[in-house]
Amino acid sequence: MYAPDPQRYDGRMPYPRCGESGLKLPAISLGCWHNFGHIDDQEEARAILRRAFDQGITHFDLANNYGPPPGSAEENVGRFLAEDFAAHRDELIISTKSGYLMWDGPYGNWGSRKQMLSSLDQSLRRLRLDYVDIFYHHRPDPETPLEESMSALATAVQQGKSLYVGLSNYPYKQLKKAVRMLDAMGVPCLIYQPSYSILRRDPEPRIHPWLEANGIGSIPFSPLAQGMLTAKYLEGIPAGSRADREEGFVQKEQIDAQMETLRSLNQIAEGLGMPLHHLALRWVMDQPAVTSALIGARTVAQLDDSLAAVEREPLDQQTLVAIDKVAPL
Ligand code: NDP
Repeated sequence: MYAPDPQRYDGRMPYPRCGESGLKLPAISLGCWHNFGHIDDQEEARAILRRAFDQGITHFDLANNYGPPPGSAEENVGRFLAEDFAAHRDELIISTKSGYLMWDGPYGNWGSRKQMLSSLDQSLRRLRLDYVDIFYHHRPDPETPLEESMSALATAVQQGKSLYVGLSNYPYKQLKKAVRMLDAMGVPCLIYQPSYSILRRDPEPRIHPWLEANGIGSIPFSPLAQGMLTAKYLEGIPAGSRADREEGFVQKEQIDAQMETLRSLNQIAEGLGMPLHHLALRWVMDQPAVTSALIGARTVAQLDDSLAAVEREPLDQQTLVAIDKVAPL
């Protein structure tokens, strides 16, 4: 039987407000894209969720297709939620998404009402939940009218299947249009989920200021650039790492292309007496538009290691300038 740490809300984990909504999220949230599928170590996966909750992480992020195989991360997390967290549902923010290929045929992908609402029903069954807290459209659909995809998000809220809605990977112009449509439907967009890290800064010039001006939160995914912003790849590709695994999304060429930048960033971190991943996480968390940094962890030790970044001071101006020189916008 799992009994959560009674000290989990003792003040170590900050809970910034998500935009101008009433919802607070932990400064670091945990994503289940990798490490929670049927191919992964189930006991480690369960231990990661328990440890995360014990450390004040109240938000677990999923999507219909996370695994592998697709759907298996929701199945496994659903089992852990039922077995370990049933008494704590009201302390948890569970998100899911639809928009990437999930099942065969014309309705298993993208952004029609048929796709999105069927997908949400499937996710709820796999997660063994009555509702999720945030339902995202995972990416814009070039064919479906934007209004139709947004109406599916609104329906999810009206049907009580999601408390809030979010958008992920929407480019600036489409994001603005989609948010206006959601407002007109009476279901405001709570949060935006972009790829954002020291190595990928494209939301900064337009999306971040616009989100702030419009009271929408932001939860950057892959703030460690899938592990590249740790010291692990500086001396090659360690066995078992994402770059080493067939299903991993990090390519050796990507790492090679960034190697000079990674070495320079590592030097900056060393000069501050911190590991590279703390520099990377602190940098993301310090951005005013950012509500929560959405990390991944393959082991409990990695989770602990990353979470320690929360207790570091914000980076000073000199360090920010040094990072800008090495990894400019
Ligand atoms: P990160 O950038 O945090 O990368 C996590 C990976 O980095 C870990 O799985 C591990 O990989 C490595 N790592 C983490 N901590 C350490 C450490 N302390 N020391 C060494 N290595 C470490 O995030 P993810 O790319 O995993 O993405 C996080 C979440 O964001 C996802 O789970 C998902 O919820 C969301 N996401 C959303 C997307 C979208 O389109 N909306 C797209 C992608 C992600 P390794 O196996 O190499 O050890």
